[in-house]
Amino acid sequence: MIMGKVQIIADGVYLIGGPDVSRSDDATSFIINFSGELVMIDAGAGGSSRILQKNIEDAGLDPKAISTLILTHNHIDHIGSASYFRTHFGCKILIHDLDADAVEEGDSMKTAASCYGTFFSPMSIDRRLKGDEEILSFGSEELHCLHTPGHTPGSISIYLDRGGKRILFGQDIHGPFLGVFNSDIRKWKKSMEKLLALDADILCEGHFGIFQPKENVRKYITKYIRNYA
Ligand SMILES: [Zn+2]
Ligand SMILES: [Zn+2]
Repeated sequence: MIMGKVQIIADGVYLIGGPDVSRSDDATSFIINFSGELVMIDAGAGGSSRILQKNIEDAGLDPKAISTLILTHNHIDHIGSASYFRTHFGCKILIHDLDADAVEEGDSMKTAASCYGTFFSPMSIDRRLKGDEEILSFGSEELHCLHTPGHTPGSISIYLDRGGKRILFGQDIHGPFLGVFNSDIRKWKKSMEKLLALDADILCEGHFGIFQPKENVRKYITKYIRNYA
């Protein structure tokens, strides 16, 4: 179902940002509604803060209800409007420990800001996710944050089981893999095996949209594994 430019992916799961939804340089951005408490995943490249806000409001949601903003990794196209959302609506910003320093230091290479011809102002992180998996609880539901290094050392993938379906937010599965990002293909392959084992029904990808059902999720991930065999 489509509301304005917002797309409803599953019950209470909204695509609110991305190339066709907010701005061409934005990676996809999502809101999950947990009985009124909102969790946001990724925050565009920084030029679309008000568009993201409007999209959330168009979906009938109050941005002030965002308690948590999870950043899947430290690249500018995923973190650009994070500080806007914290400043205006008071959410906490989470990212994996291994990607946190580059954000707190405003490292223009590691955040890929220099690739986008821009800069990224240092931004503090409220909570560093650590280890292989952290499970965040919202009411009776759980959001699983899996460490899936490869594209960057602290890349994470997130999944939610809701309505009998497993929804996987696997942002930059496709890479790219660059020295300046400290990418690691060997670790990435292991990460992709981890994602395949989840047997997800819906994949929300960072730049190429939504893949479903299960067979298409599997096909999408294995295509990239084969590309880098
Ligand atoms: Zn990206
Ligand atoms: Zn990236």
